Amino acid sequence: MAAAPPPAAEMGARPVGAYEGYCMKCRATRAVANPQLTELANGRKAVKGTCSVCGTGIFKIL
Ligand SMILES: [Zn+2]
Repeated sequence: MAAAPPPAAEMGARPVGAYEGYCMKCRATRAVANPQLTELANGRKAVKGTCSVCGTGIFKIL
């Protein structure tokens, strides 16, 4: 049984500023400033950044 090829990486396809996340302080969806792609222990991709309005940290699982 040949192993299926891994799915195409989805990283690097989006320009900076393309991410949005829910800001707990604004209680609204905001653009994520300084987005940094990270990977969770379970292999899920996530974006860590800050709210472009108030600067509160935003963490969004992709
Ligand atoms: Zn905010």
